[in-house]
Formats: sequence, C-alpha cells, structure tokens
Amino acid sequence: MSIQESFCPKCGGPSEGGLCGRCRVEQTEWLVCDPRIESVRCPTCGSLKYKSKWTDTDRDQQETAEELALGAVHLHEDVRHPDIGIATRDMSPNRTVAQVTVAGTLYDVPVKGACTIEIAWKKEQCDRCCMFAGGYYEGVLQLRATGRKPDPFEIGRGMAIARSIEDAMQEAGDRLSFITRTDETRDGLDIVISSQHIGQRISREIVKELGGRVTTHPKLMGEKDGKAVYRVTYAIRLPCYQKGDVVVLGKRPYEIREMVSSTMKVFDLTDGSSRVIHEDCSGRLLGNIRQAEKALVAFLDGDIVGILDPKTFETREFPAPPWLAFSEGTEVLLLRDPETERFIFVG
Ligand SMILES: [Zn+2]
Ligand SMILES: [Zn+2]
Repeated sequence: MSIQESFCPKCGGPSEGGLCGRCRVEQTEWLVCDPRIESVRCPTCGSLKYKSKWTDTDRDQQETAEELALGAVHLHEDVRHPDIGIATRDMSPNRTVAQVTVAGTLYDVPVKGACTIEIAWKKEQCDRCCMFAGGYYEGVLQLRATGRKPDPFEIGRGMAIARSIEDAMQEAGDRLSFITRTDETRDGLDIVISSQHIGQRISREIVKELGGRVTTHPKLMGEKDGKAVYRVTYAIRLPCYQKGDVVVLGKRPYEIREMVSSTMKVFDLTDGSSRVIHEDCSGRLLGNIRQAEKALVAFLDGDIVGILDPKTFETREFPAPPWLAFSEGTEVLLLRDPETERFIFVG
C-alpha cells in the first residue's frame, strides 16, 4: 500500500485522508437564512430602529430590504469566495420577500444554494418624534436686548443660528437635541430646546455673532432615574447697540464695530480713528450701515464734496471726511441725521 493513496470511507472516492470534499459538503449545513425578519421605521421622520436604538437613515425601503436580507444570511465559516445575489419584491405595503442566491467554494467543491427571506415592515413612532410631539423641553433661550427690543435682523439671525446648530447636531447623531418650538414675544424671541447641550451651543453662538452676554438660570424640576432634572433659562442680553449701528455720542457720529462685556469698539466717522471706550448707551441712534443709502458724488473741490441727494436730486455740499476717498462719478454710502439734516458718510 502506497502512503499517499487514501480513500473516502463513505463513497470510496479519492481523498486526502478522511471524508472527501464532496461528502464533507453533503454533511455540512453551510447556508442558513432567517426565514422572517422585522424592520421598524418611524412613519414621521423615517428613522430606523435596530435592536432598541433609533438611527436616522437616508436609505429607502429597497436598500433597507437588501441590507436586512444580507444580514439574515449566515454562511459556514469555511465557505470561500461567496457571491450573494438578492432580489426583493414588495408583496404588500407591510411585506417584502427577498430571494437570495449564494455561490461559493467549500472544501474545494463549488457550491450553490438559495433561500427566501420575508421582511415585515412595522411602523412605530421614534423616541425623538414622541418627545417632539409631547412638547418635551429642558430649557428656554430668551433673546432680549438692553433698553430696546431685538430688531427683525437680530431675531432672524438668532432663529437661523439656532436652526443651523440643530441641523449640525442632528447630522452628528445627537438625535435628542432639537428645537421644540420658537415663539416671538413682545420682548424678543424665545427658543424652547430639548437638551442643555443644544441650549449651550445656541446661546454661545448667538452671543459670539451678535454680541452681549448670556446668563443661565437652572431650576430643579425633580428627579428621573436617580438624577436631578433641571430646566434652564438661558437669558441672552444683546447690547444696547448692534454691530454697524451709527450713533451720535456728544456731537460726533460713530459706527459701532463691536460690543464686548462692558466696552465698545467704535469708529469715528469724522476723522476715521478707531477706539475702545466704556459702554455708553446714551447716544442717539441714526440707523445701521445695512440701511445706508447710495448716493452719487457730483464733484470734489478741495475739502468739500458735492453729493447728489438721491431723494431730492439736489446737490448738497459737505466737508469730505479724510478717511474716505471721494471721486467724481462714484457712489458713497450715507445715513441721514434727521436732527441736523446732515449726511453721515459711512463708506
Ligand atoms: Zn466521499
Ligand atoms: Zn421619528
């Protein structure tokens, strides 16, 4: 008897010792499919529930079905080069059937198999939509201003900042940080929020862009799972002036460039100098540079500039501020001082 000759004890064919490949395949359950799986989707926002955790998804039902079917196919660990084909068919709105075909190699023998997987579609309101529908909240941001009401620009920016932070947090998977609702009140804007995390980020960002300061006022509401539950009021107080406001302080017009804590950075519109002064809310507000009018420079004569008034079409003469380069035929930006009827050049 030669040493390398060996026979399969089952079929008598050649083998490398013990059962041959063909007989081993026959004895191996190499393809197992879960016959029925369930998928739970939120009918309101389309999130998917996996085990007990909800996640947002961009996948449509067919892609989800294919992915779920793939996860329900279990191959023996010795299968090599598996090629899995999945064809889905929606039988009803609640039921999809996936036909699975598998080809591969097992113990050097090519194998082929098939199975059918049924996917049941279930609907359930997700954690976020339940909280949202119930008006859940953990805090309120109150956007107010010192000695005035926040104007439509500031309210619009506050709203836009809040929404963009909400989008970013949702995108990053912080599902339970959202804006419960927004209310425009007589004094400003209230933004009702579902978590402290989103409250902190929105208030920080609003103050960073619009100035002012924020103070937080927590109130103990009770206990949940042994942890203290607080509702926090984020009181945002915008400064008395906005960035870009033109204010007459003493007799001189200034543009407000920045207001931080108790100081303000101003630009002197008469001589073009910048300085930082103590917060002073006593000035007379002329408007904001966003509302500046465009006017044509009719002539320049030494230190005197002639401006064509865009309202009356009369040419009016003013001393030309040295920080602005005027030339005939170009446009300048100005605000009007209703008290002195002067033009205040802002750019
Ligand atoms: Zn055999
Ligand atoms: Zn939902």
